[in-house]
Amino acid sequence: MNKAESRQVSDYLELAGYQSSDKLQKADLVVLNTCVVRQSAESKVHGMLGYLKGMKGQKPDLSIIVTGCFVDSDIKQLEKSFPHVDLFFKPSDYSKLLNCVEMQSIVRHEEIACLPSSRNIEVSAFIPIIQGCNNLCSYCIVPYRRGKERSRPIDEVVCEVIELAARGTKEVTLLGQNVNSYGHDLPAPSDLADLLSALNHVPGLNRIRFLTNHPKDMSQQLVQTIATLDKVCRHINLPLQAGSDDILKAMWRCYTAEQYRQLVGSIRGYIPEVALSTDIIVGFPNESDEQFKQTLGMLEEIRFDTVHVAAYSPRPGTIAAREHLDNISTEIKKERLKKIEETQANIATEINSRLMSKTVEVLVEGKKGGKWYGRTLSNKLVFFESNDNCLGRLIDVTIVKTSPWSLQAQRE
Ligand code: SAH
Ligand code: SF4
Repeated sequence: MNKAESRQVSDYLELAGYQSSDKLQKADLVVLNTCVVRQSAESKVHGMLGYLKGMKGQKPDLSIIVTGCFVDSDIKQLEKSFPHVDLFFKPSDYSKLLNCVEMQSIVRHEEIACLPSSRNIEVSAFIPIIQGCNNLCSYCIVPYRRGKERSRPIDEVVCEVIELAARGTKEVTLLGQNVNSYGHDLPAPSDLADLLSALNHVPGLNRIRFLTNHPKDMSQQLVQTIATLDKVCRHINLPLQAGSDDILKAMWRCYTAEQYRQLVGSIRGYIPEVALSTDIIVGFPNESDEQFKQTLGMLEEIRFDTVHVAAYSPRPGTIAAREHLDNISTEIKKERLKKIEETQANIATEINSRLMSKTVEVLVEGKKGGKWYGRTLSNKLVFFESNDNCLGRLIDVTIVKTSPWSLQAQRE
């Protein structure tokens, strides 16, 4: 989401006549896009703000703009604490940015949806479709910073994707804190299945991804629709967070391990080739060894393709931070994190080894270290060599080496 929003900011600035700079030191205007989902991210923001303060000391004309989840409702207080920042604006509240760079008169409303002609078109583009989150997971700061859910109208998203595809984009990833809520708030209510069905017809587009889903909101109808649409990727990110029902309850996730298990069963029933990824938090307040083992048990049982794991970090203002002490030591959190990573590495080794000698279709996204890389329909990262320009093409390759994280292949 942050990548997509940074891209949006740079599109607006380019429309206003700014040019991007390859070096921070050369810039006249710096926009800092921030994340505060964990303390480590917030600490980086403080570090960067300190650095920019020093830069402004040397270069008093430098303009500094801060956006992202660091910007809470009390902007007056932020202005007091960071007087060297010229403007704070909340995530996706672009009107403030446009006012500040005197764009309102240049960019009329209908032009705002246009992409600057200078935009470097990527093979794979991120498209935010819903802002905010109506859930209240007890550990999570996102709803406090991003507000209630607001969906973009279906036509607007489809138009943007048509334009991108006409200019060379082959894959889009639809983004939201919970894409399963997409469209429910629109004047003519619709849902993610409607949007996916509409996008499946876009000429030139090869693939459609979406991130992220909430297990309590993933409907059977959506799963059935995904199964019938050929451009929709065979990969679903379904954050589990914990394997213990008591911890899930304390996290306010609104599902049990058994309900999650059944959902996975239903998804695999309709889409047998699907790859699943998940998010896990270890060291939530009061998490016992036994409860942690239940999370490990779910990993062993479900056998995800990818797991993103984080140590619990108390976020001031959230329910969990108010109601519970952060009583699992850093040492235990680290141990549990490591255990999850080791377990998952073994599972992914085994899952990926089954792809050995198989032929897969890869959408090529770029070149790294002399090799082309891209992803399969099920989101596996594949590297291969070729003297042809493979960028943006769908290419069949045969897997010759596997690892838990990526695959090496040879061109057919
Ligand atoms: N909307 C998504 C996730 C948004 S935040 C969902 O429902 O899961 C991305 C991930 O950051 C979460 O899945 C969670 O695993 C992690 N995260 C969020 N708050 C956290 C916290 N306070 N401490 C540690 N990890 C956290
Ligand atoms: Fe945070 Fe839960 Fe919303 Fe995800 S669904 S953004 S974890 S509150």
